Amino acid sequence: MPRMTVLLVESDAAESERLQGRLQWVRGVDFVVTARDTLAGALEALRAARFDVVMADLSLADSPGSETFRRLRDGAGETPIVALIDPHETALGLLAVEEGALSYLIKSRVDANTLARSAQRAVKNARIKFGEWDSPMFHLAQHQFLKAAQLMGLDENIRERLMWPQRTLVVAIPFRRDNYSEVETVFGYRVQHVLAMGPTKGGIRYHEDVDLGETTALAMWMTWKCALMRLPYGGAKGGVAIDPTTLSRAELQRLTRRYALEIAPIVGPDKDIPAPDMGTNEQVMAWFMDTYSQQLGYTVPGVVTGKPVSLGGSLGRREATGRGLVHVVRRAAHHLGMDLAGSTAVVQGYGNVGSNAARLLAESGVKVTAVSDVRTGVYNANGIDLAAIDRHLAEHATLEGFAGGDAVTNAELLELPCDILAPCAIQNQITAANAAKIRCRLLAEGANGPTTLEADEILVDRGILILPDVLANAGGVTVSYFEWVQNTQNRPWTLAEVNERMGEIMTNAFDRTLQRSLQSKLDMRTAAMVEGVERVANAMLLRGLWP
Ligand code: NAD
Repeated sequence: MPRMTVLLVESDAAESERLQGRLQWVRGVDFVVTARDTLAGALEALRAARFDVVMADLSLADSPGSETFRRLRDGAGETPIVALIDPHETALGLLAVEEGALSYLIKSRVDANTLARSAQRAVKNARIKFGEWDSPMFHLAQHQFLKAAQLMGLDENIRERLMWPQRTLVVAIPFRRDNYSEVETVFGYRVQHVLAMGPTKGGIRYHEDVDLGETTALAMWMTWKCALMRLPYGGAKGGVAIDPTTLSRAELQRLTRRYALEIAPIVGPDKDIPAPDMGTNEQVMAWFMDTYSQQLGYTVPGVVTGKPVSLGGSLGRREATGRGLVHVVRRAAHHLGMDLAGSTAVVQGYGNVGSNAARLLAESGVKVTAVSDVRTGVYNANGIDLAAIDRHLAEHATLEGFAGGDAVTNAELLELPCDILAPCAIQNQITAANAAKIRCRLLAEGANGPTTLEADEILVDRGILILPDVLANAGGVTVSYFEWVQNTQNRPWTLAEVNERMGEIMTNAFDRTLQRSLQSKLDMRTAAMVEGVERVANAMLLRGLWP
């Protein structure tokens, strides 16, 4: 019989005995439990012996608060920790998970089986944790999911499955530099989170920070996003760890073709359909589609979305994410009784999402007072002339040197006073460090994962309405879905058809999220997550587990 050593840390003697009793009754594993009732005792035990897993109450007689986990973790090294909490302590549990606990359990709800499985999973997951998965974005995605799962009482088996992607592919991509003799090898990824909903869908990112954890987080968010929008897809994401701005056009093409070839076995119009994300664009999608089609011997437009219109791309796809964001901003402003005409907006990131969002906000009468790119921000309290920005960018490819406003850093830009703040660049921009200084009424997340979990709570407490990424930036995947439908049916839609149907889907998703948020007293992000997770969980339960 396999043997597992457990350090159980619990100040309440009766509770400790009950938990030990439960572990003794588990069939198939011999749990050898060492029990301690104080943090000091636990740290001493950790110094004296090695354990497979630590299961610890975080409110101990000699350490009642959030410090318990940190001190235990420092003492436990790489030994996995499962936090044990009371029902009113979920915030403590989430904090522990954020800081490295592998999971948390509500003591009064665990039976012997759950306790045992949780200990075994912690050990298994610890092996994975200290590798490629260990990225802040993946932790954020897991915590957001755990929070929703806990609040909605999600089936434990489904919860454990959805914490991880169903399929991941890591590829080494050799591509020739322009000087011909130099071959560079970089890593590429394709992650499919849930295959139960239909084909999977998600963008391809080229960025030097891309890794398995980041790609997986983005794939998870795609699952919730597609489910929230009621699109017939599971989530996926891909990427290559390279800075595309350092590549010539020919190098970019060779890299893209080789990446497409490497991940071809798991993509296809009925399997998994990539799209552009940061660092990729319509041209990259065209090369991807061509490479895939060359392998099959005939043209397969539906293998990617976000293609040029002449190759089967959809009208309206390019500006869809920005347009979708403005749809939900309009709806949210109405809910807040805020008049868009005359309100102000600050947009971080002036790429595909940010530039279209800024333009469409301005067309709705909003004064856009600041925008930025990776190098700098520009602020003008009287409103930025966006047409002048576009001309400047066409000439210089950066906002640096733009004369129509004052230069600000990206960090300063986020703290400017405004009605609508739209982070449309990258993740982890609004954190515990600046959340108290954000001065907007509405936060519309164009980017994926721009707000950390801690910042989220600060913003919600301050009464800022958050339009979470899975809702606010879903216009892109919605029109990608339309593109796929048009490719499948070989019938292009008019721009009016595209925009009208997208507007309907965005508005409907916003209304459902708001309703759930008000009815169940949840913040908007959790409400959106619950709405998405519920749909996926129902589908999985209906399909059943095979074999
Ligand atoms: P993009 O490459 O077109 O534009 C990104 C913009 O952000 C550029 O202006 C860039 O200069 C700026 N930027 C990059 N790093 C930055 C940094 N460290 N600080 C400040 N600014 C920085 O990308 P995009 O397609 O507009 O995507 C932006 C975000 O929106 C990403 O998080 C992406 O995942 C998300 N998103 C995009 C789509 C889409 O359809 N393109 C859909 C959903 C979500």
